Amino acid sequence: MTNLAHKETTTPEISLREYQEWTANTAAYPQSNTGRIEELMYLSLGMSGEAGEVSNCIKKLFRDQDTPELRANLSKELGDVMWYAARLATALDVDLTEIISMNKAKLEDRMARGVIKGSGDNR
Ligand SMILES: [Mg+2]
Repeated sequence: MTNLAHKETTTPEISLREYQEWTANTAAYPQSNTGRIEELMYLSLGMSGEAGEVSNCIKKLFRDQDTPELRANLSKELGDVMWYAARLATALDVDLTEIISMNKAKLEDRMARGVIKGSGDNR
């Protein structure tokens, strides 16, 4: 996973916890670090916007040409989504590591029960 063909530079490894803590340095938005509903709303809107940018990159890959440059842009936009995820987790006072662990446990449970396919949040 770390040897992406389109990776432009070599970046140092960073843990999810280090990244989440580091995002506080760049949290320049109204109500930052308050955990208030206004902060959650801002971060949710930002995450949706960045998810839209991810989709737009994939649209361009589909419409134009699948190039390393477009895939690199896609990775950058995915990083923007991650930033908002980290800030949202912080606003909720939850570690990203805990969130991905809960997600992994949920999906493993679904696999074990044979309901990984299908729909519904509470399978
Ligand atoms: Mg972006």
